Amino acid sequence: MSTSLVLRDKACIWHPFTQQLNSPPPIPIVSGQGALLTDENDKTYIDAISSWWVNLHGHAHPYIAQKIYEQALRLEQVIFAGFTHQPAISLAERLIEILPGNFSKIFYSDNGSTSTEVALKMALQYWWNNSEPRRKKIIAFTNSYHGDTFGAMSVSERGIFTLAFHDLLFDVIFIDPPGNADIQAQIAIIDEDHEEIAAFIYEPLIQGAGGMLMHHAQGLDALISHMKSRGIICIADEVMTGFGRTGKLFASQWMKNLPDIICLSKGLTGGTMALGVTACDENIYSAYLSQEKLKTFFHGHSFTANPLACTAALASLDLLEKKESTLNILAIEKSNRKFADDLENFAERGQIKNIRNKGTILAFEIISGKDEYLNSIGSIVTDKALSKGVYIRPLGNTVYIMPPYCITEEELSKIFRTIIEILEEVNA
Ligand code: PMP
Repeated sequence: MSTSLVLRDKACIWHPFTQQLNSPPPIPIVSGQGALLTDENDKTYIDAISSWWVNLHGHAHPYIAQKIYEQALRLEQVIFAGFTHQPAISLAERLIEILPGNFSKIFYSDNGSTSTEVALKMALQYWWNNSEPRRKKIIAFTNSYHGDTFGAMSVSERGIFTLAFHDLLFDVIFIDPPGNADIQAQIAIIDEDHEEIAAFIYEPLIQGAGGMLMHHAQGLDALISHMKSRGIICIADEVMTGFGRTGKLFASQWMKNLPDIICLSKGLTGGTMALGVTACDENIYSAYLSQEKLKTFFHGHSFTANPLACTAALASLDLLEKKESTLNILAIEKSNRKFADDLENFAERGQIKNIRNKGTILAFEIISGKDEYLNSIGSIVTDKALSKGVYIRPLGNTVYIMPPYCITEEELSKIFRTIIEILEEVNA
C-alpha cells in the first residue's frame, strides 16, 4: 500500500462514520469493474455491500460512463429554478411511469438525506399551506434511519448516531415496526393524536442502518391503511430498498396501500452519481399552487437535478429494465436462500442468530457481547474479509450482504465461503 496516498489522506481528509484517531487507514482504490474494486497494489476486493448500497450494475459500467460522457460534453450543470433540461424531464416522466403510487411530480435534490428532508418539509408545509387544521406531528419507526441532516436525524432512532444532538431534535412519535408490536396498540397511539399527525415516514420492509431489520408486508400494509384513513401523509423512504433490492422494483409494491410521497437515492443513478428524488401526488402538489407567494416550497440545492446525474439515472434504468437484471436479481435471491440454510449450522451452535433474507439482502447477527453498533466484532469481520479479498462492513454485530446485481456466481460463492471461514475462525 502506498504510504504516500495514505499519509496525504491522513493529513487532509476527515472520513464519514470513522473514528479518525485509531481506525485502520483507508485503502486507496484506483479502479472498479463489475463487483470488483482494485487497490493501488492490484489487490482486488469483491464489493459485497455495493459501496454503501448504491451500486446496482457494477463499478465503472461502460454504458453509464458513455452516457455521462456524452452529456458532459453537452451540458454539465444548470440552475434548476427558471431553467429545465431534457435529462431531468425524461427521468421524471420515466419515474412517474414506474413508481408505486399516484405520483405526479418529481422534486430533485442531491442525496438520500435531502430526499427525506424534502419529504418531511413537503408534508409539513402541506398542512401549513392548508392552514386549518394545521398538523405538525410526525410518526416514525423505532430503529429507523432516514439520514444525517437535522430533520432526517429527528425522525431517526434516538441512538448513538444522533446522541450528541438529542436535545436539539424535534419530537417524534416512535412506534415499533409491525411484527414486534401489537397493531391494535399502535392504532390506539395513532388515534389518540391523529388530528395532529402530519405524516408517517417508514423504510418499507427493511430498516437498513438500524441493522437490516426486516418486518412483514401484511402488518405494514395494515398500518399504512390506518394512517391513510386518518388523513396522515405516508412517506416511504425507499432510498435503500428502491430499484430491485427487495426482489420487486420498489419495496412498496409488496403492499396494497401505497405511499403519498416516496424518497429515492442510492441505486437511482446505479450508484454512479449523487442524486435524490422526492415524488409526491397531485393532492400534495396542489396545496402549493397559490397566488400567495408564501405558499411556495422554498427549498432547493445548487446541484438540484444535475444533468449528469439525471443522465446516469436514465442509463441505470435502461440497464435495470433489461431481462438480464431481473435474472441476476433472481439468481442472487436464490443463492442467498441457500446460503441462509447453510448458516443454520452456526445458529444451531449458538454462534449466530436471526438469519434473514429478502431479495438481494441477507443478514444475521453474530452472538458476541452486546448487540450494538459499537461492538468490535464488526471491524474484526471487515479486516478478516478484506484480507481474503472481500469487502463487507457489518453494522455492529449484524453481518449483511447486498451485492451489485452483476455479481457472478463465483464471486457470490466466494463471499459466502469467506463468511463461513470467518465464522469458523472467530469461533476457534
Ligand atoms: N434513508 C435511508 C433508508 C438510508 O439507508 C440512507 C443512507 N444509508 C439515507 C436515507 C440517507 O442517504 P444519504 O446517505 O445519501 O444521505
